[in-house]
Amino acid sequence: MQKRVYIETYGCQMNEHDTERILRLLEGADYFETKDAREADFILINTCSVREKPEHKVYSALGRYKCLKEKRGTVIGVAGCVAQQEGDKLLDRIPYLDMVIGTQAIPIIPQLLQQIEVSGERICETSFDQDGQYLKTVLPEKSIGKVKSFVTIMQGCDHFCSFCIVPYVRGREKSRPSKEIIEEVRHLAGMGVKEVCLLGQNVNSYGKGLGGEEISFSELLERIHPIEGIERIRFTTSHPKDLSGELIHSFSKLKKLCEHMHLPFQSGSNKVLKTMHRGYTKESYLEKIDRLRERCPSIALTADVIVGFPGEEEEDFRETLDLMDKVQFDDLFSFKYSPRKGTRAAQIEDKVEEKVKQERLSLLQEIQKHITHRKNQVLEGYVEEVLVEGRSKQGAQDVTGRTRSNKIVNFEGDLELVGKLVPVRIVEVYAHSLRGEIVPN
Ligand code: SAM
Ligand code: SF4
Repeated sequence: MQKRVYIETYGCQMNEHDTERILRLLEGADYFETKDAREADFILINTCSVREKPEHKVYSALGRYKCLKEKRGTVIGVAGCVAQQEGDKLLDRIPYLDMVIGTQAIPIIPQLLQQIEVSGERICETSFDQDGQYLKTVLPEKSIGKVKSFVTIMQGCDHFCSFCIVPYVRGREKSRPSKEIIEEVRHLAGMGVKEVCLLGQNVNSYGKGLGGEEISFSELLERIHPIEGIERIRFTTSHPKDLSGELIHSFSKLKKLCEHMHLPFQSGSNKVLKTMHRGYTKESYLEKIDRLRERCPSIALTADVIVGFPGEEEEDFRETLDLMDKVQFDDLFSFKYSPRKGTRAAQIEDKVEEKVKQERLSLLQEIQKHITHRKNQVLEGYVEEVLVEGRSKQGAQDVTGRTRSNKIVNFEGDLELVGKLVPVRIVEVYAHSLRGEIVPN
């Protein structure tokens, strides 16, 4: 008998993609997605603990579903980083919680669910899977109804930046065999997908530990490039330390590789970068940016930055602003440092006051707003290639898509354009999107 699953997802693209994987796996066990938690037989909260106060969110989400458990006997589970971190403690605190699923237990969710249905027992599965089976994906059987898709190429991280919880909750770096990745991309192309974004915490170090099958990330890109139907290739995230000359070269070599690089710098101060354990300096970061721009002058650059890391003084923050001024990023994702239990930075005493953190964040965001606007204004009047993704939220007559540089463009057009690459003239620039007009052939 068909059943329904409702998944609430928090956090990054990695988590969103995990949710898609879970939905596909559950389809094989006759569970289909519902957008209404009230009619679900299984509710899963897929959590993130990278920056937020995640536990609070999880407990309040669980509180909302308590009455459904009482009324309908809905099975309730928690997955993702918080599940990995808290484990049994979650079951102890929430008597109506049935299942805690660690980051590497995704493939066995259907079995665990069946076990619960048969025996009524409560389950916690947070062990790290040594042979990498957790990376296996179920390929979609019917069209996923999207023109772009994420493809996981690796999981976990070996870097242990001192502020970051990822290596603890996602485990050590593990790459997927290239054959599997290529098979998945081919399959997606056959279902109408035009753009793939290769996903990993540090895609530049792809391939390590694959034994005889070891290829570099640039080689992986070269093998994906000829796949028919795929028009665009992107990837995220890159680590400045591992960004190779070979990869920089790929931007001028591979036509389908979009001119956009997300290259988090975290801080412009060498002192702070050292305590963060990032493995590069402001100067070496700037040097890589120069090399990227030499190879690919039109490349759009985005990054992550943290303000208020322990020990960050005013002059360190000024170094961050100076780096931003020098690079002129197209956009930035900026965060106030928040200590993560179990990381090395959480033990550093020299905290930055909350008020100072907020002031620095506001100033940085204000500066970036102007840079983004100025950079987008340059595009006014120019024609950009846009991959049309669907109806825009802006207006009933509008469609939406992205440029190769990953900027959102809305313009008047038919739904027939979905999945097509169309030339669009940029006519107006807003804070988070561009307005365009289709250029007739
Ligand atoms: N692997 C990527 C890298 O090395 O750049 C990023 C991974 S992390 C999931 C995404 C971003 O969250 C980081 O680039 C960092 O800016 C931010 N972040 C991670 N831990 C944080 C913390 N404790 N406080 C504030 N921001 C944090
Ligand atoms: Fe976290 Fe650093 Fe790994 Fe990125 S590279 S996931 S910031 S430990």
